[in-house]
Amino acid sequence: MRAVTTKVTQARFLTGARSFAQFPCDRGSEVAFAGRSNAGKSSALNTAAGQRSLARTSKTPGRTREINFFELAESRRLVDLPGYGYARVSEVERRRWAHMVERYLEGRQSLQGVVLVMDVRHPFTDFDQRFIEWCRRLHLPGHILLTKADKLSNSRAQAALLAARKHPAMQHDGFTIQLFSAQKRLGVQELHARLDDWLQLG
Ligand code: GDP
Repeated sequence: MRAVTTKVTQARFLTGARSFAQFPCDRGSEVAFAGRSNAGKSSALNTAAGQRSLARTSKTPGRTREINFFELAESRRLVDLPGYGYARVSEVERRRWAHMVERYLEGRQSLQGVVLVMDVRHPFTDFDQRFIEWCRRLHLPGHILLTKADKLSNSRAQAALLAARKHPAMQHDGFTIQLFSAQKRLGVQELHARLDDWLQLG
């Protein structure tokens, strides 16, 4: 087993923050996971960490409005950003979300990159594209997981990957993309390699 796998599976919950003031110390390196609610972000995080319920799913009330920090090793963290596009959220809450996430992305020195989770069957929603644009503006590298790939046949999944690579939002440096399935554990090694690179694990 590669060193990165060992480190990532040692993840433990550090803290949940509802405001900038509650973020843990901005030292070392971290990678944030983002995505539309229900895209499969918690499942991807849990699969990457090899733990069934490290990140709670969107159905868990309360927790979903927080930025959750998980520690892998000394000053190495994974960060679960609250899912966007949550149907039952008011406009005020939506703005609060945007403000907190933008503040996090802009101000976080230790942030090395962002993993953006998109359902392979519904990629590049308006918000995904806006999120990619934020990252581009901030010169933040990103890695996209086209998740729930098990819902498509192999050939359809490959076609979706090719189409996604050609999407206008992908026509700039700094973003990579892969197929992923939490259910089938597809693409876990590729994701680990990305995390390893950003977090300098191992
Ligand atoms: P989140 O809201 O983005 O954190 O999404 P969750 O991880 O809670 O997943 C939303 C739903 O999609 C749940 O019912 C999961 O079981 C399902 N799901 C997540 N990942 C996969 C996957 O890779 N394959 C399949 N078939 N279902 C998935």
